[in-house]
Amino acid sequence: MEKIGILTSGGDAPGMNACIRAAVRSAEIQGIQVVGIMRGYAGLIVGDLAPVDRRGVANIIQRGGTILETARCEEFKAREGRAKAFAVMQEHGIEGLIAIGGDGTFRGAKSFADEFPVKVVGVPATIDNDVPGTDYTIGFDTAVNTALEAIDRIRDTAFSHERLFFVEVMGRQSGFIALEVGLAGGAEAILVPEIPTDIETLCHQLDHSFRSGKRSSIIVVAEGDKAGGAFSIANKVRERIKMESRVCVLGHIQRGGTPTARDRILASKLGVAAVEALLKGQDGCMVGEVKGDVICTPLSTSWTGAKTLDGYLIHLLDLLAH
Ligand code: ADP
Repeated sequence: MEKIGILTSGGDAPGMNACIRAAVRSAEIQGIQVVGIMRGYAGLIVGDLAPVDRRGVANIIQRGGTILETARCEEFKAREGRAKAFAVMQEHGIEGLIAIGGDGTFRGAKSFADEFPVKVVGVPATIDNDVPGTDYTIGFDTAVNTALEAIDRIRDTAFSHERLFFVEVMGRQSGFIALEVGLAGGAEAILVPEIPTDIETLCHQLDHSFRSGKRSSIIVVAEGDKAGGAFSIANKVRERIKMESRVCVLGHIQRGGTPTARDRILASKLGVAAVEALLKGQDGCMVGEVKGDVICTPLSTSWTGAKTLDGYLIHLLDLLAH
């Protein structure tokens, strides 16, 4: 293999740049030329790409977002779009592809590899951490720490004004951010899509806590909680108990920012592992880290497999909340 392409796709995540840097530098050491593809599959379809070398990835390890930019590309969901992408790869002599993103990116990569003779390796990068085959995704740790910093600030106000705060964090399908932020931030409770939310039980718990002397509380709500977002849940609670409350939706501030050391290290490991996988002919897979070991799992596991919240962390949160 002499030339590979690299792209970032779907939602951006802090650490994507550290991963690009690791892949480019390790490939170069192996004598492989790397081509940077702009805006994910959208750039691949139109041939928006350029060679990138070790100097080209200098000074990006600390930067959030992605220097290759990212996009959502409807055209790639159709075979004709993927055919155009394959033609571009052939034209430029690109034999392998590293696709950094989430399960959507890997669905696209899998269809692409099934239909055309391309070798693709995925690297999981999404702040949501909802990708099976890796304990953590690149960007998750940074998002958790960003949300945690915000909650620590909110906690000062919650304490000073003796108030209940509902803080909404990202997580449309999953409560990974909510759980880690909730535990680390000392939340009273977390409300996540994986666990049915019972407003009556929550009100009872809040009432009990306040009766036992607690004067402020923080409830962390994942945006995809089935009982509604933080505003809707706060309204339902207000109807039942007389307690002043405020709502804070953290939103996109959780997406960007300087990646934490853990994200940079994970990104470096997985960027190098992706190149190694391509060289070993282990394509059609995603590289991930499970219990400290770097492993490859089939791309399809990212959407067919299950990844559950850590039950022990949920237990700890409940144990320590009151
Ligand atoms: P993420 O990778 O973060 O989950 P998306 O779900 O937006 O993000 O997917 C990123 C891109 O991957 C999409 O814009 C599209 O180009 C491609 N993609 C997603 N799902 C499919 C699919 N089923 N088939 C082909 N391509 C897909």
